[in-house]
Amino acid sequence: MYVIIAVYSLLLGSFFNVVGLRVPKGESIIKPRSHCPRCQRTLTAWELIPVVSYIVQGGACRGCGVRISPLYPFIELLTAILFTISPLWVGWSKELIVSWTLVSLLMIIFVSDVRYMIIPDPVLLFFAVLFIIERLFVPLSPWWDSLVGAAVGFSVLLLIAVASKGGMGGGDVKLFGVLGLVLGWKYTLLALFVSTFYGTVFGVIGMALGKIRRGEPMPFGPHIVFGTLTVYYFGHAIIEWYQQLIFF
Ligand SMILES: [Zn+2]
Repeated sequence: MYVIIAVYSLLLGSFFNVVGLRVPKGESIIKPRSHCPRCQRTLTAWELIPVVSYIVQGGACRGCGVRISPLYPFIELLTAILFTISPLWVGWSKELIVSWTLVSLLMIIFVSDVRYMIIPDPVLLFFAVLFIIERLFVPLSPWWDSLVGAAVGFSVLLLIAVASKGGMGGGDVKLFGVLGLVLGWKYTLLALFVSTFYGTVFGVIGMALGKIRRGEPMPFGPHIVFGTLTVYYFGHAIIEWYQQLIFF
């Protein structure tokens, strides 16, 4: 079972790359077939095999030798890992569908935000509708926590965006609205906290190593992705740990 999930989710990861790369440019996600961005050569079926083709080709196009971004095999692998371990965290329950949907959204956003610093509206809208439908069948307890979560996520991020005068993009604000549907209000705030923590650590280390310059715009999306995943899978443990810290 796990092997089947791993294989299918590798292919899905490859599709999420295509969606994340094409939707912000307003291109179709079905046509044309994947091609090299430099020499325009259409990729053969063999070259579309996730991860494996990247390794075999040494990370370069076989036509023109242009370097292929390691982002693509990274997304394919991460998708496969998260899809495959999800049943271990949420069980073989209806929540599994929600967790897979969440991973799908996060992987697409990761690609778009790293490549274009954009979190595309059509993607957010599509997943918002999907999450509303899923939370009707797999509600949080209480059920209205989804609605409060969406409202809290959207408004808190909007406040930060206004206060920071563009330090936080509109895409991040809408994304947190959508994440609120899945997480409920407490976990949404926790996700914001953990994402900011990751972003700060990444920024400090990056500056110390001289890789990031102060004031340089930096996509916040990848930190939201890892912050959200942390909270979705480990939120319960984090809150318990924190309560023990306060009371003892
Ligand atoms: Zn090429």
